[in-house]
Amino acid sequence: MTRTFSAMLAASLLFAQAIRADEPPLQVQTVTASMGSLYVNSALIIGRESLVLVDVPFTRADTHRLVAAVLDTGKRLESVIVTHDHPDHFFGLDVVMDAFPQARVVAHPEVVKDIWRSFPLKLERWGPMLGPQGPRYPGVPGALDEGETAVVLEGHRIEILGPMQGDHKHATAVWVPGIKALIGGDLLFNGMHLWLGEHLEPQRLAWRRVLDELDALGAETVVAGHKQHGMPDDVSSIDFSKRYLDVFEQLVDSSADSGELTAALQEAFPDAIDIMGDFLLGNSTRVAMGEMEPWDE
Ligand SMILES: [Zn+2]
Repeated sequence: MTRTFSAMLAASLLFAQAIRADEPPLQVQTVTASMGSLYVNSALIIGRESLVLVDVPFTRADTHRLVAAVLDTGKRLESVIVTHDHPDHFFGLDVVMDAFPQARVVAHPEVVKDIWRSFPLKLERWGPMLGPQGPRYPGVPGALDEGETAVVLEGHRIEILGPMQGDHKHATAVWVPGIKALIGGDLLFNGMHLWLGEHLEPQRLAWRRVLDELDALGAETVVAGHKQHGMPDDVSSIDFSKRYLDVFEQLVDSSADSGELTAALQEAFPDAIDIMGDFLLGNSTRVAMGEMEPWDE
């Protein structure tokens, strides 16, 4: 190697390092869907040239808007992560798969098992309501490999936490340590009544404990699974979800039936919104008061 060449090589390596130091870290962009998709949040974790998407809306229309947001980044969609087996987080997958056939679509193996089990049941339950907004074919994520706990985007780890108890018994969350960003999936709500239609007391208490663990991560950006439009993507969603579960537990004890519990929750959280009429509050309070069996979703 000539001296000139090695000097050039050294200079170019230095230049490359300088660029790397100046690069912006990963960015997180939240896309909140319409009421038709139950105000579900999708998160775009955006790198220099490519991105990772977390969760996909319920309806085709909301998913097309999400596809547009991904295209607008001008970057390549590498992977899609589905956090759990609730249809408002993956029913639009066929639209995403058709738009970005090169993207790897993954979930924790437990979540994939849940989705294969419940897809027929979900299509029967939600298909008639969704009509042309429903899936044209079942989009099902592939399982992460055994021992694989993270997706890597341009050298940055995007970790999948869980499964743990959230509004679903096998909820996962996404943690990006490099930028202290937590994509909470349905472990976190903000400005909305929580879905407690699959819970008895042990599940509610387990969810509450998990929130302390998530809080301990010290996240700076926090994306809830569902939020009222305009709510911030910060720790307020952890605080809100904790407070809601604490208050819910107290009010279950002091209420005689679901009607009383509903009224008390509405008084305690006057700004919280519901979806599809009283879908969240109605089902959650009836299940909590033993007037209805917990949902199997
Ligand atoms: Zn959800």
